[in-house]
This record gives sequence, C-alpha cells and structure tokens, in this order.
Amino acid sequence: MNAMLNAALNQIKETSLLLSEDYSDKKTFKKVIEKILVPQKIIKGKISITGKSGKKKTFKAYRIQHNDARGPFKGGIRFHANISEDEVRALSTLMSLKCAVAGIPYGGAKGGVVVDPSKLSKEELKNLSVAYAKFVTPYIGPWRDVPAPDVNTDGRVMSFMLEAYEKKIGQMAPATFTGKPVELGGSLGRTEATGRGGAYVLQSYVKLKKLNIKTSSVAIQGFGNVGYYFAKFVSKLGFKIVAISDSSSGIYSSKGLNIQALSEFKDKGGAFKDFPIEKGMKLISNEELLGLSVTVLVPAALENAITKDNVENVSADVVFEMANGPTTTEADNYLYEKGVDVIPDILSNSGGVTVSYFEWVQNLGGYYWTEEKVNDELKKTITKAFADIDKIKKDKRISYRRAANYLSLKRIIDAMILRGRV
Ligand code: NAD
Repeated sequence: MNAMLNAALNQIKETSLLLSEDYSDKKTFKKVIEKILVPQKIIKGKISITGKSGKKKTFKAYRIQHNDARGPFKGGIRFHANISEDEVRALSTLMSLKCAVAGIPYGGAKGGVVVDPSKLSKEELKNLSVAYAKFVTPYIGPWRDVPAPDVNTDGRVMSFMLEAYEKKIGQMAPATFTGKPVELGGSLGRTEATGRGGAYVLQSYVKLKKLNIKTSSVAIQGFGNVGYYFAKFVSKLGFKIVAISDSSSGIYSSKGLNIQALSEFKDKGGAFKDFPIEKGMKLISNEELLGLSVTVLVPAALENAITKDNVENVSADVVFEMANGPTTTEADNYLYEKGVDVIPDILSNSGGVTVSYFEWVQNLGGYYWTEEKVNDELKKTITKAFADIDKIKKDKRISYRRAANYLSLKRIIDAMILRGRV
C-alpha cells in the first residue's frame, strides 16, 4: 500500500476512535467505518488513441468513486506518468473528507490516466481527453459523479470531455464537469477560488487569535495558481509577505515582497533564481524558506514538503496548508506537541471545490451569478467551515486537523446511517 493511501486510511481509523463515543450502536458504527475505508467503486481499464505516427497508444485509466452518501461523487482527473491505483484511491478518500468538511453536498472521487502529457501533441491530448470521457461516460453525470481538472488537466481538457460526453448521451449536460471555461458554463471566480478561500480562512484564524495583521509575516512555498492568488489576497488584507518560492529558488525580503512584480516576472516565463534582486532582498533555498521565523508558513507547492527530516527547523507560529498533503504524519505530530497550529489542507484549500460546487449549482439552475456573488458565497461557506472546526477543536481539545477529520467523518457516517447503508 502506498504511503498516501496508508496515511488517509490511518486518519479515518484514528478519527473513528474519537468518534465512537458519539454512537451507542457500536456494531453499526464499526460496519460504517469498514465501509468508509473502502471505495464504493473502482473503474479501471485501458484507453487507446491513434498517435501522430498512426500507431496505437494505450494508457491505463482510473476513476475511483469513494463514497456518495452525501451527494454525487466529486473529484478531479489527473494526467500523470507516476499515478497508481493506490494514489487515486487515497485522493478519492480525501475528496470525500474535503467535501464533507466544506459542507458541500458531494461525495468523493478521483480519476487519472497514467501518461506523461508533455510527450503528447495537442491533437493527442484532445484524443486522450475524448477517450477518457467515453471510458467513464456510463459512470458519471450531474447527479452521479462530477469530474473536474487536476494535475496537468485544465478547462480545455474539460471542454473536450464535456463535448464527448454530451455527444454520447445525446443531450446537453454542463453540470457533469466543473472547471470549464466561462464560455461553456464555468463559474466566474473559479480560477482564483482556492487562493481566495485560503485568505478567508486565514482572516478568520487571525481574528480569532486576535493577531495583528500589520505585524504578521508570511512565507509561501510555491507561486503557481494557489500560491499566487493566496499571496495576492493576503497581501491585500495587509499581511507582509516576506518570502515566496518556485521550484528554482526562494526570494526573501524582510520589508515585504511586491506580489504584482513577482507575478509579472513569472508571466514572462522567468524562474525565481534569475529574479533581479533589489536592495534588501536575497535569494534563499526552499529549505531555508521552510525554516524562516515567520508568523505564518504556507506550503502551497507539493505534498510531503514538511517531513520528520526538516520539521525541527520550522520556526513559524502557524503552518497553513494550501497544497494537498504538505505535512507528513510524523511532522504533524511533532508540530502539535510543539504547540504550532496546523490549519489542514482539507479546510484551507477547499475554496476550489466550493466554487466548483457553485458552478454545478449555476449549471443546474441555468442561471449565472456575478463574480461578487460567487465570492460572497465562498466567504460565507468557508468561514462557516472554519467556525465549525474551531468549535470542535475547543470542545474536544484536539488539533485543527483532527477536528476537521472529526467533523467530516461524522457527516459521512451520519449520511450512511440515515440511508440505511449498514
Ligand atoms: P501549480 O502547478 O500551478 O504551481 C505549483 C508551484 O509550486 C509552482 O510555483 C512551482 O514552481 C512550485 N514548485 C514545484 N516544485 C517545487 C519544489 N520542489 N519546491 C518549491 N516549489 C515548487 O499548482 P497549483 O494549482 O498552485 O497547486 C499547488 C498545490 O495546491 C498542489 O498540492 C495542489 O494539489 C493543491 N491544490 C490546488 C488546487 C487548485 O485549485 N489549483 C486546489 C486544491 C489544492
């Protein structure tokens, strides 16, 4: 079993020990947990396209539907050379937890194709998207399973998939995919949603802890979609961003960085190692960034960034997870013992899936919201999720991560029992 799946299943098992006190029928409770540990359906097979040279190319494809007790399955599709069934299963399980914690009416799923998309031509990428859509057509739909973009897939891939799916079923069904371009029924505000949602959560946390935003410093690992928008919105709130990195290097300035200037540099294709350093700035490594003495450390790049090997260097007051799974279990336990709050990924980066939910709502209603309404609804939803978790954290005297897992698992268990699935 791979490490990510092991960690996801351990989180459920650990949380179930806490939750069992709330359920008098222990036999039913045990059966529900056993069911939640296993996906409801694993769809796997091979899909083929005709390559540039006229030769057939075949790829392994997955869609794993973890749990739909709370609503249709929901989760992205990734195209990546190194994905495995275990990884897709782990990610589908985490999607069930994320949707439950955000309080949006979905279950969890994930999809993937084992492929290195950088080796595909534009035409091959389109054909692969169409082949994948045909492969999953019998299992998806607005009230069944709603895929979205993930690693190496985007609005364009969703457009190809939507077209192939609609052709196959013989009718329009935009609510089957989210993350679509606005022209095809995508939602305004989706691109920025994960970063913006994170900024709302940080705002709630700071308010609760009565921290002074003006004197709070922030270091962010990663400056892609999530890192950039998060940086943009938290600097607008008045936080001082002292460090940011990409995969090539980090940039540090004790006076605070100009996010717009960094973004313009990246838009021209630059790598931070070549950034024209001004007075008061210096280049730092990603490891140095993780060890900076700041108020808020934000891993926003990749999984397993903070591990047992570097966690002792972490000197931040709060670790705010914007990437998926950036802190390993050992590192998380260490930070908890040290009294460092870790705001967990399933809460802090749930803005993306929340606005995907709004996209689905708009598609089903055939009526489209203004960007202002999308942002207001996102703020309401994610701020409530934070407040719900904070209450559990205080009542049970547990970490934010445990509280988030507690809330999400409880919501799934209750839905399973109400449906009489055990
Ligand atoms: P992205 O590809 O747009 O950006 C990733 C950033 O990380 C880039 O700046 C890249 O240079 C940097 N990076 C890559 N390797 C690095 C390394 N070794 N050290 C430091 N930086 C490195 O990706 P994204 O969409 O911003 O996603 C970032 C994370 O957030 C991922 O874990 C993703 O799963 C998660 N996430 C994304 C969304 C979303 O809506 N995009 C939603 C939820 C979670």
